[in-house]
Amino acid sequence: MAASDPSNKPLQNLDEWEDFVKARYAEEPPPPAPVDKPFVATSPNKKQEEFRNYRAEARPTVKEFYRLNHTYQTRDFVLQKKRQYLSREKRTMGVWEAMEYLNTLVDDSDPDTDLSQIEHLLQTAETIRADGHPRWFILTGLVHDLGKILCLWGEPQWAVVGDTFPVGCAFSDRVVFPEFFAFNPDSRVPEYQARTGIYEENCGLDGVDMSWGHDEYIYHVAKDYLPEEALYMLRYHSFYAAHKEGEYDYLMNDHDKEMFRWVKAFSSYDLYSKSAERPDIKKLKPYYQELINESFPAKLNW
Ligand code: FE
Ligand code: FE
Repeated sequence: MAASDPSNKPLQNLDEWEDFVKARYAEEPPPPAPVDKPFVATSPNKKQEEFRNYRAEARPTVKEFYRLNHTYQTRDFVLQKKRQYLSREKRTMGVWEAMEYLNTLVDDSDPDTDLSQIEHLLQTAETIRADGHPRWFILTGLVHDLGKILCLWGEPQWAVVGDTFPVGCAFSDRVVFPEFFAFNPDSRVPEYQARTGIYEENCGLDGVDMSWGHDEYIYHVAKDYLPEEALYMLRYHSFYAAHKEGEYDYLMNDHDKEMFRWVKAFSSYDLYSKSAERPDIKKLKPYYQELINESFPAKLNW
């Protein structure tokens, strides 16, 4: 399937996926600021019928997006994308420059009501900042979605956004729209059918290949420059099956479980930081440029 194939763009815009995630977890309270409790895998707090509801409520475009995502995100596809992108020879850009570049993404967003990509990044960072979190946490909010520039290089929506999940092992039925995994060729690879598949029990997520998208990519771009907690947030922020549904704990080691409290904390800011007020990009730029300069070099490899 060619990247330019219109069926690769079922969503009107990337926010349509995020709005759907937000609606799915809508009954959850907004973020508690402190991060003092270790992450414990909990069973979902939705009742079975409520959980089924998201199917009925999902727009056809969102459903089609997940059908493509679950069908084509195979382990082979993931390994191929890692070979293609993780050498990071596409471009050299500073962080602010990458934010402006991401903002050139043209989709069917409504400029009057929808936040631009740069505004979403600033708003996430500003909400974290308002809660008095450390500077590295604010910076993580600022860069967390920069991996979406993959869209500008012709990657289909289903290979950039969407809930992420491990490949090379059984798909959890708590990943959204699990029925679409029946179309994934990996569902017929015998070694991948056990719950741990090709991995060892509690081997640690660093050794597990996740479905490909903006999370894994920005993690690699940022990995030499941010603290470990930040890197977990970047790498797993779309892994809702783990941080919202408590799944895949059998692939996590104790350190992952400890670090996932940060992922959980971050997720609340990502989902709920949309305020009525649009961030003033021009006014905020000097503060954020300084924050960027504290941790990142002037140019990064993308
Ligand atoms: Fe994201
Ligand atoms: Fe985001």
